Amino acid sequence: MTTRQSRPLFDASTIPDDLCPIATRLTPMLPGDWRSMRPVIDRERCVKCAVCWLYCPVQCVVEKPAWFDFNLATCKGCGICARECPQHAIRMIEEGA
Ligand code: SF4
Ligand code: SF4
Repeated sequence: MTTRQSRPLFDASTIPDDLCPIATRLTPMLPGDWRSMRPVIDRERCVKCAVCWLYCPVQCVVEKPAWFDFNLATCKGCGICARECPQHAIRMIEEGA
């Protein structure tokens, strides 16, 4: 995994000392850095109806020549795609499994 550098949003010296430091920096994290579940597609079942693409709230479903896949950098693991797939072609598995 590549390491991303955070960069300051503004001159931090102007911020009062009693402010939470998390609020002073832009976080470089993407959903793929903290997601606990991820979708896996069964290519035999997928009929390319695009329902998963339609329902994904972060638009990380990607069209492949014969099926749909997921951009796992931006997928947040919500499971909506698996819930909505009429073919039950998507299942959610634990990250790292
Ligand atoms: S909703 Fe299910 S069947 Fe339809 S494209 Fe997505 S994975 Fe394939
Ligand atoms: S789990 Fe959620 S964020 Fe990830 S592809 Fe499915 S609908 Fe999109």
